[in-house]
Amino acid sequence: MVKIYLDPGHGGSDTGAVGQGLQEKQLTLAIALKIRNILNNRYQGHQIRMSRMSDQTVSLAARTNDANQWGADYFVSVHINAGGGTGYEDFIHSSLSNHGTTGRYRQMMHEEIMKQVNLSNRGRKQANFHVLRESNMAAILTENGFIDHAADAAKLKSAAFLEQIAIGHARGIARTFQLSSKSSSGSSGSSSKNQGASSSGSGKTNSIVDYLKSIGEDSSFTNRARLASSYDIQNYTGTAAQNTQLLNAIRSGGTSGNTSSGSSAKRVHLPASASTWRTYPLNVTPVKKNSDWSLTPAAFGGLTYTILAEPYPNVVTIQTGRGRRNIYIGPDTSARRM
Ligand SMILES: [Zn+2]
Repeated sequence: MVKIYLDPGHGGSDTGAVGQGLQEKQLTLAIALKIRNILNNRYQGHQIRMSRMSDQTVSLAARTNDANQWGADYFVSVHINAGGGTGYEDFIHSSLSNHGTTGRYRQMMHEEIMKQVNLSNRGRKQANFHVLRESNMAAILTENGFIDHAADAAKLKSAAFLEQIAIGHARGIARTFQLSSKSSSGSSGSSSKNQGASSSGSGKTNSIVDYLKSIGEDSSFTNRARLASSYDIQNYTGTAAQNTQLLNAIRSGGTSGNTSSGSSAKRVHLPASASTWRTYPLNVTPVKKNSDWSLTPAAFGGLTYTILAEPYPNVVTIQTGRGRRNIYIGPDTSARRM
């Protein structure tokens, strides 16, 4: 199992760069979660751990310590640039050449990312950044456009563009570690990935550990505790009830489709034909200007969520990878209640 450590830059009290109404910490998290989902849904032979899965403050030292302790094979830090410029660039540590292992990995990442993003190429660079210096394994830091450059920022506002960035990273990682694609032998065709995504029948298991393993995710207690906190499960100690709760939360709120296990909860399906779907924080009126993010059903062959509440007519609360959000599913949309 190749261990991939994904590090969404900044978070919590550290917004990272800001500009054009965007915050770096939100973009890096969105991209990293997409990278994770693409790798887990389309490839096998890897495990993923993330330095954060929500809007959390995590120090640089905590990130590299965590990756070192886990024994990651590759540290991938995702950032957005600022400060006058435009385009894409990536970094390896300043002590390394382009010809060593880290340099060769970076070459593949660089090529795959540049194939996907329509950003100008600022080149392959070196720097003495903490995450590159203090990580024990090969490490790359990518700077995906400039948040304070109008044209770059306009692209970064599109979920489809973030998806392209993520695809580039995922393909780079898959190529670097020669990850094999998930069975095209199964029932599901080409780009659609759904409940069948995990080849080992995760749709049926009732074990959170088995489920996490089947989607290539770290199943250790530590990681389950982190997942639990990101799904609002308090004081996780690993009891059977909490494990079941976590399993259901991940299945219903994960960005891949889910196979809910016989629960009678009502669900809503956002079809693959929808490229973006606005989401709203729970404490605001769900009108366009208050939308803080969007889902991309098209990228996942459709998305299905458990309806947790219906605070307004045709507005339902769901658990997303970014926490609970409201979405509008009125009859003028393509959403389908199940
Ligand atoms: Zn940054």
